[in-house]
Amino acid sequence: MRLKRRQFAAAIAALALSVSSAAVASPAFADPRQTEKNPTATGYGGAVSTVDPEASAAAIEVLKRGGNAADAAVAAAATLGVTEPYSAGIGGGGYFVYYDAKTGEVGTIDGRETAPAAMPHDAFINPATGEPYKFTPDLVTSGVSVGVPGTAATWERALERWGTLGLDEALKPAIKVANRGFVVDETFRQQTEDNKARFSNFTSTQQLFLPGGESPAVGSIFKNPELAATYRLLAKEGTSAFYNGPLAEEIAATVQAPPKVGEPTLPVPVGFMTTQDLADYKVLNQDPTHMKYRGYDVYGMAPSSSGGTTVGEALNILEPFNLSEMQPTDALHHYFEASALAFADRGAYVGDPAFVDVPTDALLDPAFGKERSCLINPTAAATKPVKPGDVENYDGACPASAAPLADETDTENISTTNLTVADKWGNVVEYTLTIEQTGGSGIVVPGRGFLLNNELTDFSTVYDPEDPNRIEPGKRPRSSMSPTIILAEGKPFLALGSPGGSTIITTVLQTILNRVDLGMDISEALAAPRAAQRNTATVTAEPAFIQSYGSQLTALGHELVPAGDAFTSAAEIGAATAIEFREDGKLVAVAEPERRGGGSAMVVSSGDQPSNGHGKGPKSK
Ligand code: GLU
Repeated sequence: MRLKRRQFAAAIAALALSVSSAAVASPAFADPRQTEKNPTATGYGGAVSTVDPEASAAAIEVLKRGGNAADAAVAAAATLGVTEPYSAGIGGGGYFVYYDAKTGEVGTIDGRETAPAAMPHDAFINPATGEPYKFTPDLVTSGVSVGVPGTAATWERALERWGTLGLDEALKPAIKVANRGFVVDETFRQQTEDNKARFSNFTSTQQLFLPGGESPAVGSIFKNPELAATYRLLAKEGTSAFYNGPLAEEIAATVQAPPKVGEPTLPVPVGFMTTQDLADYKVLNQDPTHMKYRGYDVYGMAPSSSGGTTVGEALNILEPFNLSEMQPTDALHHYFEASALAFADRGAYVGDPAFVDVPTDALLDPAFGKERSCLINPTAAATKPVKPGDVENYDGACPASAAPLADETDTENISTTNLTVADKWGNVVEYTLTIEQTGGSGIVVPGRGFLLNNELTDFSTVYDPEDPNRIEPGKRPRSSMSPTIILAEGKPFLALGSPGGSTIITTVLQTILNRVDLGMDISEALAAPRAAQRNTATVTAEPAFIQSYGSQLTALGHELVPAGDAFTSAAEIGAATAIEFREDGKLVAVAEPERRGGGSAMVVSSGDQPSNGHGKGPKSK
């Protein structure tokens, strides 16, 4: 977990004193708990970056034992399900991107949640009032917002397609951490506190995350034997035990009748998920999005995520500008304007391609981006929201204007988690996974140790047949997750991703610009203060960003407001992870130095030389 070094000594001291029911001191001989965190690690033989040292250690353990990047990514993700249960886990979904060193190809798995078959178009309208449910906290804490989870199926598919381990082996490190427990840090306690009021509505959630009615103390050991048992079930029987049988029945029953306490404080609208929905769930093998930026090949996640098209379109819009020669303020102004234009097109055109004809090729066409770039005034911000472009008619020349269209307003959660893994054979994984809000729906499946997502809140609340992100049964809500792998002359150069709702897109975009255009190394690029222009009247920005650039950008017409949402007081955007691949073969794994308490980057071998076996193929299954 995320523990700053100076807090660590205090946390360890607190261990001996801790008495909460979740806090049980571990025997001295148990596997050491991982609390040491480094935001940057360089070396050879494989690397990982996650938000959490237990998860990073799980990946390194797998890599050291000869597993490949896919194996290690699943091990890390499953461990994040233990140590980051409010951000990700088998109750949620995500997008897995893989670079295969043997073929040089990038493949992806869409493990996004789906809407139940019986979900009506007006599911988010309160039948009692005829008005939409209050988004926070009513809709977010509900059965109706729970999508059919895709994470377990994603892990299984990733291992089948690219891994060398079975699910049983890949889940071992996570089962170990769930059983022996992890050290609670300030972030985990604060996230529990932030969720306390809604968690208290559910018997199962109270029991797991509020033992004795309180958030676990910093420095205590948090164990989750019920999740360990659920993982053991999946290890033994595969994910059919998740999508069929007793566990599937319990998930559906929990969604249809959440386990409320006697006197709940929230209405908790019930959901429509059935066992059939779970049995019908399928992850999708998808081609990645692809575009070229400054000679690099940029691969991202295709719809149902808007990540690949929106990051890619913004880069196309920026391609004609020489950002590296500009003053930082001017480069950031261009970044804002390009992002706003790309977000306008995201809002107008992107949804689940199984239900909506998404013009992915046009959105990523350099000519379309060039035409959109004509709208950037180098010395003045456009009034937001800007209009979407015409994907049917464009030729790269400057267009006549059309009517404005407002993008939906998105909450920027700090939920979700991202991880990056590379192995000694050169395979790379970029994986973003989530249960949507920090704490998801707030509903733990009784006795199973995990929270259900509230991903369906990513649909537009009110049904509009023209809206690509309208609710439809069986549909995936539009995501912003942007796991991205960038190649230089066919070889990995940079892999990165982030949490943060729709700021995921801007964080990934800004980090690429920082690294490729603005002269930062990858550690600096990730740590630099962030701001997000998502085609709204104001730009959401971190305080340090406002301090550095606020007055100059205000002079250009941008209005900057501090980041933060209903769920957190932290004025932060994202908690990204990345690995850069140096030409000399050295790996630079990078995590956040500060945001969300800092992340954990590790390498297999931190020596100056490639480790033995570099370049050999992995053992086959
Ligand atoms: N549900 C969000 C999405 O798919 C991710 C959640 C978050 O990071 O806040 O875009």
